Amino acid sequence: MIVTSAELLHDAVEQRYAVGGFDTTCCPLTEAIVRAAEESQTPLLLMVPPFAFGQGYDDAFIRHMAQRCRETEVPIALHLDHSGSVDAIKRAIDYGFSSVMIDASALPWEENIALTRRVVDYAHEHGVSVEAEIGHVGGGEAALDPAVADAAGYTAPQDALRFAQATGVDLLAVAFGTVHGSFLTAPKLDLDRLRAIRSLLPGLPLVMHGGSGLSEADFRASVEAGINKVNIFTEISTLYTAEIARAWQTSGGKMHLHKALAPAEEAVVRCIRHLMELFGTPKASEFPEMKAF
Ligand code: 13P
Repeated sequence: MIVTSAELLHDAVEQRYAVGGFDTTCCPLTEAIVRAAEESQTPLLLMVPPFAFGQGYDDAFIRHMAQRCRETEVPIALHLDHSGSVDAIKRAIDYGFSSVMIDASALPWEENIALTRRVVDYAHEHGVSVEAEIGHVGGGEAALDPAVADAAGYTAPQDALRFAQATGVDLLAVAFGTVHGSFLTAPKLDLDRLRAIRSLLPGLPLVMHGGSGLSEADFRASVEAGINKVNIFTEISTLYTAEIARAWQTSGGKMHLHKALAPAEEAVVRCIRHLMELFGTPKASEFPEMKAF
């Protein structure tokens, strides 16, 4: 069933756990993510990045995503990731998305606030939750070249407070040492900064972007310091591709697609289930009662 991310993350701050947000760009990856939720009976956010949302061919894929989430019994928030476009956000809400991210973090402060505020007003009128970002997480969405985090983009705790108060967002993405894609050098997370943000915003769910490539210890420490949603894309997307390539090679170049997809999907399901355990996400039965969106 589809639920809002505000409801899904309602207890996460107080109980100190995180829920995984997993990006999908196609039906096979969607299936792996939803199956991981079903098999472990663990709620998550199924997210679509902006580059997979908006071209004409995406319509069937987006409808499939929404239908798959509606039909499963596990609570899933259906989320548009990193959108800079109010039109795309309105379309996502028309498709039945329960959660959206407006990413105006590259705009000047006042414009970021004004645009975010506009999205919050519209989304809340439709019962939809809103995530926004303050500071800047480096690397590029779907970039495959390793990147290094730039401390100049890290979130200033006072900015996080002012931004959250001025916009009324339901979730706030903060930058403290991760990058989208893979890391060129071992990540060094600024957990003191994260703790300072958490103490200024004691009730607001905080989001980590760029989760791929972190160690188990990094995930645990980030959740302990205040992260409630962890975004993952590169790790599961490249794992799927690598597993297909491996199956093809093992077969000596004699393999049909459906045979290669099955073990690749299993590998991604296992990876997601392991990540959700690291995040400490409770089983669906342990969440407070949620209503279908
Ligand atoms: P990764 O690709 O590094 O996992 O980042 C995903 C992300 O933050 C999506 O918003």
